[in-house]
Amino acid sequence: MYRMSQKVAIERVQVRGAIPYLGTNTTEDGQQVPLYSSNPDIVMRWLCDGWRCRYNQLRSRRQKWDKTRQALIPLGDEPDMRADKQARAECSWLAAIPAMILQSPNRIENTDWWSANKRRKTLRKQHRNPGMMPRFKSRRDDLYFVCWHNRGMNANWRQFNKHHGEIIITGQNPKPVNLAGQPCRYRIHIRVRVSQPIRDYTSIGVNWTRKTVVFINEPLPIARERTNRMVGLDRGVAHTLATSDGGFIDLPKARLARIDREIRRRQKAQARRVKLSGEPVNEYRRHASRAYRRTQAQIAGLYAKAHRIIDDWQHKTTTALVRAYDLIAIENLNLQGMTRRANIKPDPNHAGRFLPNGQAAKRGLNHSLRAAALGGIASKLEYKTQAAAHSRLILVNPAYTSRTCSKCGHCAKENRESQAVFQCQQCHTRMNADVNAAINILNRGVDHVLGLDEAERAITTQDARTVQHGESAIVARGTSTRP
Ligand SMILES: [Zn+2]
Repeated sequence: MYRMSQKVAIERVQVRGAIPYLGTNTTEDGQQVPLYSSNPDIVMRWLCDGWRCRYNQLRSRRQKWDKTRQALIPLGDEPDMRADKQARAECSWLAAIPAMILQSPNRIENTDWWSANKRRKTLRKQHRNPGMMPRFKSRRDDLYFVCWHNRGMNANWRQFNKHHGEIIITGQNPKPVNLAGQPCRYRIHIRVRVSQPIRDYTSIGVNWTRKTVVFINEPLPIARERTNRMVGLDRGVAHTLATSDGGFIDLPKARLARIDREIRRRQKAQARRVKLSGEPVNEYRRHASRAYRRTQAQIAGLYAKAHRIIDDWQHKTTTALVRAYDLIAIENLNLQGMTRRANIKPDPNHAGRFLPNGQAAKRGLNHSLRAAALGGIASKLEYKTQAAAHSRLILVNPAYTSRTCSKCGHCAKENRESQAVFQCQQCHTRMNADVNAAINILNRGVDHVLGLDEAERAITTQDARTVQHGESAIVARGTSTRP
């Protein structure tokens, strides 16, 4: 699920009111000593540890498949089945943690688990390495916790001026352990620097290692009016996307190419360092030089930057599309064919050698980014059209859309004169191949909405085509555009 979020930097933290009870500590002679502290760093660490502890308790209930025993076994040594209340009562270090923090792992652990499983399934389908199964949160991970806002229940925001404000997290010490004569409620004031007004949020995520807070927002529905326009989109050869009205939408290619060059330059330097050492890469990495490790971090940073640029572009593009069109048709993307490695072709004349198979064309930042860019467009359109009024996304089967004539419906391989040009062998229509495919995708989307079968289709293709320039056929026929 997608959420919009805003990240801000923590300036300082203060603990006021009661001194939070952090749990009991057992001394060497077996005595139970209650711990209290209003030191901001200690208190923040305690919240992060408590959150991680509860998260891992929930995670321990998950099961994994054991190959040798041919059975599902618990992920941890033994599953912890305690409810929030019971966990709080039995673990002294959770006793004074605010409910809005202690309850949040319930949903987050669940989402994490299923999304990770879904991702692994997809990767396996694409014949890629699915990676590790989701595990427990480690002590070595960033110190982190989430606190629900729940319409003002906790984690409330107060803006001081244009660039500063604070989040106040409140909690209380349980009666039996509260210090005599003290208030039992404590307040944690997290002062942050902001650059934009804080929008509505449902929860906050505090990263104490990086000293940042993220306000997590549900996506805002896009405000739009009915436009009675429809569009089909196809992935282009020269352009990232082609639209059925003959337009093209492109990724910021120049910026991405610059990042690509930066990455390549650094990768060459890395290869040189490995080569100079005279060791295999894996050996060298074990005791890599400081320069090597620094460059490696730079490469990771550059990849992250490229992904941020693409994400931003996807958001801008999809929002503009949802605003402009009532109906958007795209191909039902099967990323499998795009990201999978090309099949190897053995050279029949030389044993052990291989012929060129197009793998080189599939390699590289450019290709992978392009594939990812389209997947992201589809998923962003999906939730944005759902949230917006009078907006609909239709996924169509893309088979033969690139070799079928959008005017007369003639389908032949020969129609595709070149990668870029479409020339119908029957009616001699000539146009950009991607735009032709986009029109076909739109036509299929319209057919789908009208619920027509193939026999009727030939008659109505004409309608469908007039539709994209003029009024919406769907509206004209009185069918709702909402599913
Ligand atoms: Zn034709």
